Amino acid sequence: MSDTQDHIIQEKPLSHNSSAAAGQVDLIGLSRQELEESVIRFGLPKFRAKQIWHWLYHRGAKSLEEMTTLSLRVRDKLAEDCFIGRPGVANEQLSEDNTRKWLLAIPGGGEVETVFIPERDRGALCISSQVGCALSCKFCHTGTQPLLRNLTAADIVGQVMIARDTYGEWPSPRGGRLLSNIVMMGMGEPLLNFDNVAKALNIIMDQEGISISKRRITLSTAGYVPNMKRCGEELNVNLAVSLHAVRDELRDEIVPLNKKFPIKELLDACRAYPGSNNARRITFEYVMLKGINDSESDARELVRLMSGIPAKINLIPFNAWPGAPFECSSGATINRFSEIVNNAGYSAPVRVPRGRDIMAACGQLKSASERSKRKSQETTPTNSCGRSANPYTARAFPINS
Ligand code: SAH
Repeated sequence: MSDTQDHIIQEKPLSHNSSAAAGQVDLIGLSRQELEESVIRFGLPKFRAKQIWHWLYHRGAKSLEEMTTLSLRVRDKLAEDCFIGRPGVANEQLSEDNTRKWLLAIPGGGEVETVFIPERDRGALCISSQVGCALSCKFCHTGTQPLLRNLTAADIVGQVMIARDTYGEWPSPRGGRLLSNIVMMGMGEPLLNFDNVAKALNIIMDQEGISISKRRITLSTAGYVPNMKRCGEELNVNLAVSLHAVRDELRDEIVPLNKKFPIKELLDACRAYPGSNNARRITFEYVMLKGINDSESDARELVRLMSGIPAKINLIPFNAWPGAPFECSSGATINRFSEIVNNAGYSAPVRVPRGRDIMAACGQLKSASERSKRKSQETTPTNSCGRSANPYTARAFPINS
């Protein structure tokens, strides 16, 4: 693990900005309407909500004192009733390739990961939707962690605020911002926490604030069919679907949610996804597992299944984790798979691993941090969980322009 520790920027006691007195309201994560209602409840005129929104999400104010267009009296009044929350940074790591990963302590309890993957002049922030996950996908390390709770809208927006703080992207720049895209591909299943995810994404998309457009936001689901339509209708963000297998028998096993919503039902929901078309395709994620789902006949079946769906396929080299029951397919197998899908007319790029040295893959920083906490409490040094992190590779994320 020495590799990783070289890159730890901070490992410090938590400093989340949630030291609110009982009954105080966190301004972060309120919808515009809720903010207006709160402002009125605090005894202030409604128009103050617009000013506060601007300070929170355009200027990135971390304290009420910064809100200098509000009179001292108004700020004092607000200070009695509310505060501006941020998740606490429990750990932050920077990879040699500049991928940055935060382990964030959520004010209500629990830790989640957020990862930023920069390109030359833009970058994608991968955010989490739940603490742990209930879906138990067999190849996913978060799947080994029980679902502790849904993140609130404030927890979700807070991940973007921390990243923006880090890159100094306040006030919200009009163009040329590094943090240009959002992918909901961190810990958890976003469609099982739809209301909070929707509220958070509406805040993130709001043009008088963070202002990241729906075309630059991708939500990834393991296939919780009942909320796919709502996702398209209410948010109209790009959809990514974690397919990973082309036969129900195998998908039932590696993505157990398939037992409730089998492949046919899932693909029918994709065909009906509002807003998808040839210019705006659905991304199908397909993790390459050696000898499990990577044969040429799997590739041909995948092509058959895609018929009638505006689709692109993202082939993801499997990121191994300690005790994982799978291995990654060989480079030659992945290339052959990609070739078959490509020849059938579908784009099928292979994701380039990023953040390899900091374990920038789902659930891994959290687990590594828990392992090291456990290790320091143990008397025997032979805990197999604490083995070297070198075999890790990391996911990279699609950036839609
Ligand atoms: N629950 C959502 C989002 C979180 S996972 C979903 O399932 O889509 C985001 C993506 O990372 C999914 O495609 C998931 O299958 C993939 N993934 C998880 N663990 C992985 C691993 N160890 N190697 C490669 N991809 C992985």
